[in-house]
Amino acid sequence: MIQVNPHYAKLQSSYLFSEIARKVEEYRSAHPDSEIIRLGIGDVTLALPPSITAAFRDAVEEMGSDAGFHGYGPEQGYAFLREAIAEGDFGSRGINIAPDEIFISDGAKCDTGNIQELFATDIRVGVPDPVYPVYVDTNVMAGRTGAYDNGRFEGLSYFVANAENNFIPSPPESGQDTVDLIYLCFPNNPTGATASKEQLAAWVEYAQAHNSLILFDAAYEAYVRDPELPSSIYEIPGAEKVAVEFRSFSKTAGFTGTRCAYTVVPRACTAYDQTGAAVSVRELWNRRHTTKFNGVSYPVQKAAAACFTETGREELRHMTDYYLLNAGLIRTAIESFGYSCVGGVNSPYVWINCRGDSWAFFDRALERAGVVITPGTGFGPAGEGYVRISAFNHRDKVEQALERLTQAFEQ
Ligand code: PLP
Repeated sequence: MIQVNPHYAKLQSSYLFSEIARKVEEYRSAHPDSEIIRLGIGDVTLALPPSITAAFRDAVEEMGSDAGFHGYGPEQGYAFLREAIAEGDFGSRGINIAPDEIFISDGAKCDTGNIQELFATDIRVGVPDPVYPVYVDTNVMAGRTGAYDNGRFEGLSYFVANAENNFIPSPPESGQDTVDLIYLCFPNNPTGATASKEQLAAWVEYAQAHNSLILFDAAYEAYVRDPELPSSIYEIPGAEKVAVEFRSFSKTAGFTGTRCAYTVVPRACTAYDQTGAAVSVRELWNRRHTTKFNGVSYPVQKAAAACFTETGREELRHMTDYYLLNAGLIRTAIESFGYSCVGGVNSPYVWINCRGDSWAFFDRALERAGVVITPGTGFGPAGEGYVRISAFNHRDKVEQALERLTQAFEQ
């Protein structure tokens, strides 16, 4: 008899998205002539910039000739892209990351989801609350948790982000469970909060003191404009021994449909075997990656490499500036309605304290303004009382949505 993985039965179905879809459908039937504006989405909307599209197209053309054809490439990614990243994202900022510490993949979702399999099942895992759900569900699937109870899985540690800690949780204190594998995400999805160097340094110190490993998700690093804020965990001295960093071209360069990302695993990064002997995390990740992944397509890697040319950089800066301006407009409007928020500065997400039930706020925005936002409860219990608005829409849609919301909130 073929038995299923029993841990899958613990997973919670995404009530959030099905409930949003149901409510939107209900609104649509009641108001067939009203255009719905989605400010809830985490997907980008602007086209790929011209120089990146051109590099993509040229590489497709190359593939159409015997001379330019590329079959299987290196699983870890082509040297031209790994070198461009090592210099463009790290070397140019004074951070020493070698090309062979960079692993190209088709998404930070897969990488943040897959990496947990390198580690033992009886380690203690800590995740933020609210959280990007992939971190939690992949550990549930692997059997690292008990049952689900009241928004929480037994066996996981939760780092609560709320107004009391300015949405930046501190490492566990002595007396609390020691966490071996630590998921952090800054700029944060969903809160939009950004951590200072001091705040990240506290996590690095914690990981050093407990021989833990930090999984740092920097999918939104391109939105950091404040030069005082770290855009990589490797800006913190010593982090290369205790942290893996995930980056993606999705929100940085509009690659959500094109698919390209990368994971940085420094040679110094260490985990331990059952005898306590040090093991290179890079070696383990290389083994996993080369066994289970066959590389990102050549044209996609060429398009990604074009992000590091001078023109590519300018175009991307323009793109992220555009979304940041949307975020600023959203934040100003929401504050003018008398609500406090976090994010929307150095981040494409605005996290609004709706002073009550998340769903009631959602309903009000939908029913009175035809605007769809995301209730915070979908990201964990600490999201109750909050909603997330994303800046990834066209300016005219954002402006129209804000006008409608202004009228709705004046009623
Ligand atoms: N990490 C975070 C925090 C995200 O919000 C997202 C996408 O929404 C991802 C990773 C996934 O990125 P990718 O498109 O590279 O899979």
